[in-house]
Amino acid sequence: MPLTKEQVLKQYFGYDKFRPLQSDIIDWVLYGQDALVLMPTGGGKSICFQVPAMVMSGITIVISPLIALMQDQVRGLLANGIPAAYINSSQTGSEISLIEKRCKSGELKLLYISPEKLFSPGYFDFIKSLNVSMFAIDESHCVSVWGHDFRPEYTQLGILKKSFPDVPVIALTATADRVTRKDILNQLAIPEARVFVSSFDRPNLSLAVLPGRNRIKIMQDFIQKRANQPGIIYCLSRKNTEDVASALQKVGIRAKFYHAKMNPEDRAKVQDDFIKDNYQVIVATIAFGMGIDKSNVRWVIHYSLPSNVESFYQEIGRAGRDGLRSDTLLFYTFNDLKMRQEMLDQSGLPEEMKETQLAKLERMKQYSEAEICRRRILLSYFNEETTEDCGNCDVCRNPPVRFDATILAQKALSAIVRTNENIAMGILIDILRGSRNRKVVEHQYHEIKTFGAGKDLKFEEWADYLQQMLNSGIMDIAYDEGHSYKLNNRSRAILKEGQKVELVRFEPYDVKKARKEEE
Ligand code: ADP
Ligand code: ZN
Repeated sequence: MPLTKEQVLKQYFGYDKFRPLQSDIIDWVLYGQDALVLMPTGGGKSICFQVPAMVMSGITIVISPLIALMQDQVRGLLANGIPAAYINSSQTGSEISLIEKRCKSGELKLLYISPEKLFSPGYFDFIKSLNVSMFAIDESHCVSVWGHDFRPEYTQLGILKKSFPDVPVIALTATADRVTRKDILNQLAIPEARVFVSSFDRPNLSLAVLPGRNRIKIMQDFIQKRANQPGIIYCLSRKNTEDVASALQKVGIRAKFYHAKMNPEDRAKVQDDFIKDNYQVIVATIAFGMGIDKSNVRWVIHYSLPSNVESFYQEIGRAGRDGLRSDTLLFYTFNDLKMRQEMLDQSGLPEEMKETQLAKLERMKQYSEAEICRRRILLSYFNEETTEDCGNCDVCRNPPVRFDATILAQKALSAIVRTNENIAMGILIDILRGSRNRKVVEHQYHEIKTFGAGKDLKFEEWADYLQQMLNSGIMDIAYDEGHSYKLNNRSRAILKEGQKVELVRFEPYDVKKARKEEE
C-alpha cells in the first residue's frame, strides 16, 4: 500500500501539517498534471516534489543547476531516510555507474541531476530507460532569458515533456515576474500547467535602506548590537568581500569572506563553519547561500546595490527562515547604480536583454529611493496586491519629512557654476562649509561668493542632500571627469527661475534610535 501524502510528511519529514498551497500542489501532481510553483525562498518548495516522489511508484528526476544545492538536498533526504542520490560532472565513472544501477533497480526515489549531465551524449537514453514518476525543475527561472539567472542548458528542457508526455512536470522558482512565468511554461512545453503562486510576503523581515556612507562603521554597530546573531553581507566583487571581512575582523567580529574564486573545499569549509556558528558573519558575493539551509540567519546586509529586485528578494530571503524577526539593510549610493548601469552597457548582451536588465535595475533604484512603504513596492513587483503599509520598514517607522530646499539647492548649484563645473562632492562641501583647506586655497576657491554659504550644515548633511539632488535629477555627475558635478536644464531652472526644490530632511544613523525601534 502506498503511503498517503500526510503519512509521508509525518513519517519522513516529521511535520504535522502542510503549509498553505503545498497540499494543493501535491494533489495536482499526484493527479498527473503539470505545475509551476512560485514560492519565496524558505516557503517550502522542496516538499512539493519530495513528498509526491515518495507517494508515487518510480523515480523522480530533479533538475537542479547547482552542485552545492543538490548535495545539500540529497544530504537532507538521506538523513530523513529517503533513498536519493545526485549525478553531476564532478563524479567519477564508477561512482556514476553505481548510482545508475540503483536507479534501474528501483531503489532510488529521487535522482538529482544537472542539465549539462542530462543532455550529455547518450544520457537522455538512460533516463528514458527508467520508470520516471515525475520531473521536478528547480530554479526554473533559469530557463528564461527574462529571468535574472539565465542558463542556456536549461532551454533544452522542453524535450522532457515531449519525450514523456504522460509524466507530470513540476517547475519551481522563488522569483518570476509575469513575463518570466509565461516564458517558463513555453520553454518547458507545459503551456497548460497550473500556476501556483504563494504569497511573497515575509512580514518577519524588516526592511531598511541607508545611504552608502560610513558603511563599515555602521555595519560594525549593527553587528555588535546583534552579538552572536548570524548574518550575511552581500558584496558586488570578490575584492569587496575580502576587504569588508578583514575590516570587520579588525574590530573583533568573527567574519569570513566567501566568493566564487575560492576552491570548492575552502568554500565548503566556510559554509560548514557558518552553519555550525563558528563564524558570525559571512561576507559573500552572490554565490553564497543558494543551497544552504540555515534557518536562524538573523540579518542580511547588502553592502552594494543588487542588480534586480528578484536577486535582492532572494538574498534577503535567506534571513529568518524560521519565521522569527530578522533585519535587512541595503546600502544605496548613486555610484553603485551608475556602476551597475555601466556594467550592463558594456556587457555585450543583445540589445533586448540589456534593456530588460536596465529596466530591472531601475526597479531596484525605485525601491532604494522609495518614500512609501518598501514592502508594498516589493510585493507589487511580484504582482501581489496590498492594501496596507507594513509597519516594519524604515519608511513606515520613520516617514520622511520633506522641506523646501530651494535655497539650499541654489547655494550648491551656484558653487558648482563658480568653479566651472569642475569639482566633486568633497571639495564642493568644503567650499559650502567654508573649510579653508589646502586644496580649496590652492584653487582660490575661498574667494568665490558662495564660500561658506552653507556652513550651517554638517558635512554628512550636505553629502546626503547632494545625493538626493543627484537622485532626483536636479544635477548630473560626470564619472569620467573626476566625479565632477554638472548642471542640467533642471539646475538652470532652479538657479535662474527659482524653480522650487523639495528634499527629505536628513537624519543621522543613530544606533540608540535604532535600538529603541527594536524594543
Ligand atoms: P525553499 O526551497 O522554498 O526555499 P525549503 O523547501 O527549503 O524552502 O523549506 C524551507 C524550510 O521550511 C525548511 O526548513 C523546511 O524543512 C521547512 N518546511 C517546509 N514545509 C514545511 C511544513 N509543511 N511544515 C514545517 N516546516 C516545513
Ligand atoms: Zn512599510
